[in-house]
Amino acid sequence: TPWEYEPAPESPDLARLEPSYRMFVDGEFIAGGGEPIKSINPATEEHLADVSTADESDVDTAVTAARTAFDQVWSKLPGAERAKYLFRIARLIQERGRELAVLETLDNGKPIRESRDADIPTAAAHFFHHAGWADKLDHAGFGPDPRPVGVAGQVIPWNFPLLMLAWKIAPALACGNTVVLKPAETTPLSALVFADLCRQAGLPAGVVNVLPGAGEVGAALVAHPGIDKVAFTGSTEVGKQIQRTVAGSGKRLTLELGGKAANVVFDDAPLDQAVEGIVNGIFFNQGHVCCAGSRLLVQESVAEELEERLRARVAALRVGDPLDKNTDVGAINSAEQLAEIRDLAASGESEGAQRWSSPCELPERGFFFAPTVFSEVQQSMRIAREEIFGPVLSVLTFRTPEEAIAKANNTPYGLSAGVWSEKGSRILWASQRLRAGVVWANTFNRFDPAAPFGGYQESGFGREGGRAGLEAYLDV
Ligand code: NAD
Repeated sequence: TPWEYEPAPESPDLARLEPSYRMFVDGEFIAGGGEPIKSINPATEEHLADVSTADESDVDTAVTAARTAFDQVWSKLPGAERAKYLFRIARLIQERGRELAVLETLDNGKPIRESRDADIPTAAAHFFHHAGWADKLDHAGFGPDPRPVGVAGQVIPWNFPLLMLAWKIAPALACGNTVVLKPAETTPLSALVFADLCRQAGLPAGVVNVLPGAGEVGAALVAHPGIDKVAFTGSTEVGKQIQRTVAGSGKRLTLELGGKAANVVFDDAPLDQAVEGIVNGIFFNQGHVCCAGSRLLVQESVAEELEERLRARVAALRVGDPLDKNTDVGAINSAEQLAEIRDLAASGESEGAQRWSSPCELPERGFFFAPTVFSEVQQSMRIAREEIFGPVLSVLTFRTPEEAIAKANNTPYGLSAGVWSEKGSRILWASQRLRAGVVWANTFNRFDPAAPFGGYQESGFGREGGRAGLEAYLDV
């Protein structure tokens, strides 16, 4: 692909870590008025860097800078000019790909193989894709005279720091909006390197602003009267709070929230392929994935065989040092997240499910959790209902296809689902009945910038990616 780059960065030096980082406002790196964050490496608990954070007056300064850049520069540029900047940013993400991959792994804990082969190239692909849209908006059937909405306030989580940033910033800029973005408090570093990369690309000052900080900074940003459009990715709980904050304000809102995806395996499924898909579905990125296939629904007649093969495969996953290119499962992002995963796993045992954990040896330091599979799970159990956001799979069984659909849809979420079968007709039948924004067939966790992504019900509303994703950033 055009976004491949050199193999195997392993040295932490490649991340070019600075001892301290400042926020990015109006084209400058400046110290914020908030309490600095001490960013740590979740795999070693070592201090990585101090990061300056915003206070309310910094939010105001950043929104004002974004407004000025919107009015005076960015919304006036022809689409083809905006495209040039987006292409430049995409190429710089590739050029600085090794640095970004190592930095992301240090700050987040994810395996280097994933940052290198998934997060960073997919972020670059997102900018390439949206660069291609910037000069075609007038001709793509959005309606007469499509215009940017204005200043976007964007808040993102820690699971895919640079990729979630790309999903937010690329469509906003392509449509002519300017942006104030708040990265998650545990993973602010790649967003600040991205800010440096915007400067390198010559992006006009104020078009992109990055304000690190905790939830209060996000709350101040979405409540700021100078924001026209709020885009949030994170937990359902915070999403609902934001929905209340912006209600009645006239601001546009899109929410990408939690999930509890069902991966449905029928008795005629290609089992070897399904095992790989199930493992990827729940153990990719330590299960810190909103669309993770956290509920396996398997047809009774093949359940025993599938679970046996699954345990053998999971036992072979290499858990440990995220900078080792052979690692499959890295560190949990924070001590708090680890505590939540442990709590939910304990509830699975006390509610009567059968727990099996990989016999892997976990490193002594850092936040790690052995890949875990629960069988004999009932729908009423917490591990079947709540998002665990960790490497824990809950296995349920079904007898008929109708029962599979009923169980899969028995959730307040609706972000994604998977179906495994040799029969095309069965896959179509199931995918038409699964209430989820994405249904993968005989695969899982596949993403393309041209494919709209987003949820039903408590997984949020609005789409990111493709033509549907652009609608959130345009008025017609
Ligand atoms: P979170 O909701 O705690 O935090 C997300 C972001 O919101 C962070 O930047 C945080 O600082 C900020 N925030 C916290 N309180 C806020 C407030 N009151 N107002 C404004 N901003 C606030 O979620 P998290 O733990 O960082 O991320 C995990 C969640 O994100 C999971 O539920 C996961 O499913 C979801 N997620 C969804 C998608 C998707 O596309 N649907 C993608 C990735 C993650």
